[in-house]
Amino acid sequence: MVARSTLLYLSRREGLKDFATRFAPFKKMTARFVAGETLEEAAETIRHLNSIGCTASFDHLNESVGTVEETEGEVREYLRILRAIDETGIRSNVSIKLTQFGLEIDPELTYRNARTVVEEAARRGNFVRVDMEASAVTQVTLDIFRRLRSEFGLNDVGIVVQSYLRRTHDDVLDLLKIPARIRLCKGAYNEPPEVAFPDKKDVDDNYVRLMQLLLASGTYHGIATHDERMIAATVGYAERQRIGRDAFEFQMLYGVRRDLQEKLARQGYNVRVYVPYGKHWYPYFMRRLAERPANVWFIVKNLFKG
Ligand SMILES: Cc1cc2nc3c(=O)[nH]c(=O)nc-3n(C[C@H](O)[C@H](O)[C@H](O)COP(=O)(O)OP(=O)(O)OC[C@H]3O[C@@H](n4cnc5c(N)ncnc54)[C@H](O)[C@@H]3O)c2cc1C
Repeated sequence: MVARSTLLYLSRREGLKDFATRFAPFKKMTARFVAGETLEEAAETIRHLNSIGCTASFDHLNESVGTVEETEGEVREYLRILRAIDETGIRSNVSIKLTQFGLEIDPELTYRNARTVVEEAARRGNFVRVDMEASAVTQVTLDIFRRLRSEFGLNDVGIVVQSYLRRTHDDVLDLLKIPARIRLCKGAYNEPPEVAFPDKKDVDDNYVRLMQLLLASGTYHGIATHDERMIAATVGYAERQRIGRDAFEFQMLYGVRRDLQEKLARQGYNVRVYVPYGKHWYPYFMRRLAERPANVWFIVKNLFKG
């Protein structure tokens, strides 16, 4: 079986990226997880999701951006997304990655870029979610988020936490004091055991503990998972504590467990689907493969089919 860590290692290898992005059958396989290369294609996907009762979050794929000009292009794309949401009336917010806005160049530039997008979202009554990336940038991501949150409202900007990180319990307690809107996920990067729980059971136990803290806080949070056990734990806890279905939302990724997305929406839960689009799909796509090695065999089979 292809190990998760191998796939996550390959997700950062530029050479393979060039090979994969030019290789048509490989590219075709991305269609399951990536809603096209253009904003218009992603908007069409979101229109469909809205029609089955789900909201969405746009994600323009392009992480670890290396030049100032490219980060400015990312800001322009997000301003375009926010305008398109208003003009089309689709129900969606946006998710950003700080490495997309220059975190590997200069944190101050990153802050300014992110601020421009949050300011525009706030002006339009929309919301920006700051995704969480690898542990090397956890602290600076939280620092920039706190700075943005001190200038903008609870419903303008939110953050993500990862239950696989040992530090996350303390981070959540601090974030809830601000308060902040939080998306809880398990975490998708390759992390050493000093910073992240190596055993899935510990990641899951921490997820349930953190979910309970979030739901009990009274702030509107996102419970992001496709794990039916995490979902059942959330539904059960909310029922026992008499927390209404409109007090939180479930979040899932485009192309993953569509059946579950529809089922929860039909049951009256708020469901938001994360919709990535763009040309730079390679690292995102490799993380999705790493989450479910069966996906790799699906690709291999299709490569041989031609
Ligand atoms: C809306 C959303 C936003 C996210 N944002 C971030 C972020 O900012 N930072 C970050 O580090 N991570 C993020 N993630 C990814 C997350 O950390 C996990 O890697 C991912 O969600 C898989 O974990 P799981 O909770 O679904 O549980 P798992 O235990 O990994 O999976 C449970 C079950 O879900 C299904 N499943 C899960 N993933 C896949 C897949 N790729 N393909 C097919 N089936 C699958 C399988 O049936 C699997 O058995 C996000 C996830 C979601 C849903």
